Amino acid sequence: MPSTIDTGNLMTETRDTVILGSGCAGLTAAIYAARANLKPLVLEGHEPGGQLSITTLVENFPGWPEGIQGPELIDNMKKQAARFGTTFQLAHLNSVDTGAHPFRLQTTAGEVHTRTLIIASGASARWLGLPSEQALIGHGVSSCATCDGFFFRGRPIAVVGGGDSAMEEALFLTRFASKVTLLHRRPAFRASKIMLERALAHPNIELRTNTVVDEVLGVEEQEVKGLRLRDVNTGDTSTLAVDGMFLGIGHEPNAKMFAGQIDLDADGYVRTTENVLTTHRGVIVPGVFACGDVQDRRYRQAITASGSGCMAALEAEKYLEEHGR
Ligand code: NAP
Repeated sequence: MPSTIDTGNLMTETRDTVILGSGCAGLTAAIYAARANLKPLVLEGHEPGGQLSITTLVENFPGWPEGIQGPELIDNMKKQAARFGTTFQLAHLNSVDTGAHPFRLQTTAGEVHTRTLIIASGASARWLGLPSEQALIGHGVSSCATCDGFFFRGRPIAVVGGGDSAMEEALFLTRFASKVTLLHRRPAFRASKIMLERALAHPNIELRTNTVVDEVLGVEEQEVKGLRLRDVNTGDTSTLAVDGMFLGIGHEPNAKMFAGQIDLDADGYVRTTENVLTTHRGVIVPGVFACGDVQDRRYRQAITASGSGCMAALEAEKYLEEHGR
């Protein structure tokens, strides 16, 4: 994957635009900003490539009738952004001062000043929050089936969740696991019909509804030995013997570092103005835009993230033009 790395000294010039995040929102913003000759700098963030980089087959991104692997799609976008002059930096944001213009960013690779900022920091996997779950992350507990599924060849595992992510993980994990038990806390599923039907039809997937995980067993042994489950209707508890637990229970927006600098909603998403993707601090913060999952609680699709990345870049370009650049 092409990566033009600025080694350390980001402060050589004030940038026209800096893009935080390298998922499909950030990379689409980079393609558009680069083609507008804004020479964008992309700070690649904690999870370079974003959620697509840890997914498998993407079947609903227009243009690939047979589907495309998530990492390949991201790789293509990155090459496309690089071709038009995007610079990539393996760094993430520590803090930002949106009060001073140009904006001052403190990053893990140094300070950078920029006239416009496009926030595309995405969202990260959510956890149940059980102490036993946290103790066993990397020892049988995972939020990434494509990263860790391989380790469970011929072994029984559980997937938690009732949305498309959980279905996708469960289906993917059948390649390795001897059996996948999908645990969902409610009777009804949030997943799309097609994904749910695939999971229901799979001989190696068992779906259990109205079931929550109370504890992951195996903390002392430092490997997952099973799950203590509870039926939410009857209160009955039981033990499920599995070697792994995968979480597919949604995501949290990566926006904590903007607290106090731009407005976040009650769930921590960046508040944006519809259609123009401007951010706010009481009033609009001119020159700071947000796109993709960090500001989208409703659609959260690769294509909508890309679309909003395009919009944010066009808005940044318009803003710079209006301010004489
Ligand atoms: P989601 O649709 O928000 O579903 C999260 C699921 O996890 C829900 O069923 C929820 O239960 C459950 N959950 C949340 N917190 C929980 C907790 N603490 N304990 C137990 N269960 C919990 O998230 P998602 O599945 O990640 O999907 C997000 C978006 O991406 C959706 O728009 C989806 O369509 C899309 N997506 C699409 C694909 C695809 O098309 N291939 C693949 C993945 C994701 P409740 O239902 O009870 O709230």
